[in-house]
Amino acid sequence: MSNRKRSEFPRVLFVTSEVTPFSKTGGLADISGALPKALSRLGCDVRVLSPLYGCVDGERHALAVSANGAQPSLTINGRALHAEFARAPRRDSEPDFCFLRCDALYDRPGIYVDPFSNQDYVDNDYRFIALAKCAFDLCRSDHWTPDVLQCNDWQAGLVPLYLSQRRRRGEFAESRAVMTVHNMAYHGWFKADTVARIGDAEALYFPGGPIEFYGMVNFLKAGLEFADGLSTVSPTYAHEIQSSYDFGFGLETVLRGSPRPLQGILNGIDTEVWNPETDPRIAANFGIGTLPWKVENKRALCAKAGFEFNAGVPVFAVISRIVGQKGFEILAPLITEILSLPAQFVILGSGDPYYEHMFHELARVYPDRFAVKLAYDEDLAHLIEAGSDMFLMPSKFEPCGLNQMMSMRYGTIPIVRVTGGLADTVIDADTDLLHGTGFRFYDYTSGELMHAVERAVSAYQDADRWRRIQRNAMSQDFSWDRSARQYLQLYQECLSQPPRVA
Ligand code: ADP
Repeated sequence: MSNRKRSEFPRVLFVTSEVTPFSKTGGLADISGALPKALSRLGCDVRVLSPLYGCVDGERHALAVSANGAQPSLTINGRALHAEFARAPRRDSEPDFCFLRCDALYDRPGIYVDPFSNQDYVDNDYRFIALAKCAFDLCRSDHWTPDVLQCNDWQAGLVPLYLSQRRRRGEFAESRAVMTVHNMAYHGWFKADTVARIGDAEALYFPGGPIEFYGMVNFLKAGLEFADGLSTVSPTYAHEIQSSYDFGFGLETVLRGSPRPLQGILNGIDTEVWNPETDPRIAANFGIGTLPWKVENKRALCAKAGFEFNAGVPVFAVISRIVGQKGFEILAPLITEILSLPAQFVILGSGDPYYEHMFHELARVYPDRFAVKLAYDEDLAHLIEAGSDMFLMPSKFEPCGLNQMMSMRYGTIPIVRVTGGLADTVIDADTDLLHGTGFRFYDYTSGELMHAVERAVSAYQDADRWRRIQRNAMSQDFSWDRSARQYLQLYQECLSQPPRVA
């Protein structure tokens, strides 16, 4: 009997384009930092592979280049690139965090986007072809064969394709690939000349073929077509992305036609990093039993924002990439109305210059009530979660969303649109008076959002009621352990089936 069938806890290679605390643009990094740890705690042998970008602080994380073992082999336009694997020191029963170092591809100030031009790097196709190819080089170098290759988003979308090529050559016969969609809005589209860079893929590129999509090469489609198992990050999003173009962006038909059902497994949060009782980045630690101490964080946040502290005035917060998905088009027209409730408002994020400019202007006009930091700032993100009263997520779509869970853990009440993971994690406090954890609205309009804001403010004015909602929110279990068990089950299902033939 093979190892694969014997093993209750599979060996997992987790391929990801960002991983906290090394590199991060959004939720994928949080998940790549926390899910492998949770799988390791369950007993899996997990290796995480990610690129070594210029922003990764190799010294701080004590990364060391693997002294022995085969090096990855990469060529571009016939030119060999110098590449090697670096690793973080491994602690007992923790995953092995490995990095693909190839300075010609990754040693740049941005992760996907050039911060100077605000455009995607022009060689993003090759940067993530390289990541997918080198996943197999890492295994060879380590003399280690994973049972499961866990592929995350389009950047790892070619891993299942390469696995199928290897299987045809009799390698990795017992391994299975699981493709997880963290955000269906990003497909990894490239011009047709990318086909030649992929290698042995010409026969797959034809109208309607497994890597073709409207005359372009589509890495996410490749992943969905070749993977042995499919998942996404919440049950509601799993339903949404199969249901309509608005969520699937054209790949809904691929999902619906797949012989492997798409599973929706809700993300967790890292409850060690996001723990108000121990968080070193906030002004005062607190928990359910010491909820009154939360106010010290509000005081510190107001001081930082330049607001006068007023316990009776709610502080609203947003921490987000400033992109269309996050609902700024329905939120922005309301901000002055919210400020006149009265309320104070802090925004942390960066992205679309149109909204960046608008927020900058609002901060100039209402310095006592509105503050914005157009940056990526983890320390401030923790203080905002701890110090604000309400957290706004009016997303047009939201695969899972992490901030609503982080907010609830810090007794900060989320106001969310009912979509994706927001629908799966927040209970409306007006609909369920006993168990409510936040405020929900359905229609993607400013009017509906404002109505939810007014309901939240009315609850806030009733101190006993607000405390109850905060306690409900803080008692939710958003730890990774439950979700990791579901991933394990998905892996076991894939391992018990023959490999998928695309
Ligand atoms: P997405 O992955 O779509 O950006 P998520 O809610 O899943 O959204 O995850 C966002 C993560 O990124 C959270 O951990 C959030 O706190 C963090 N984040 C987003 N913008 C910033 C910022 N400007 N500064 C610090 N953290 C940020």
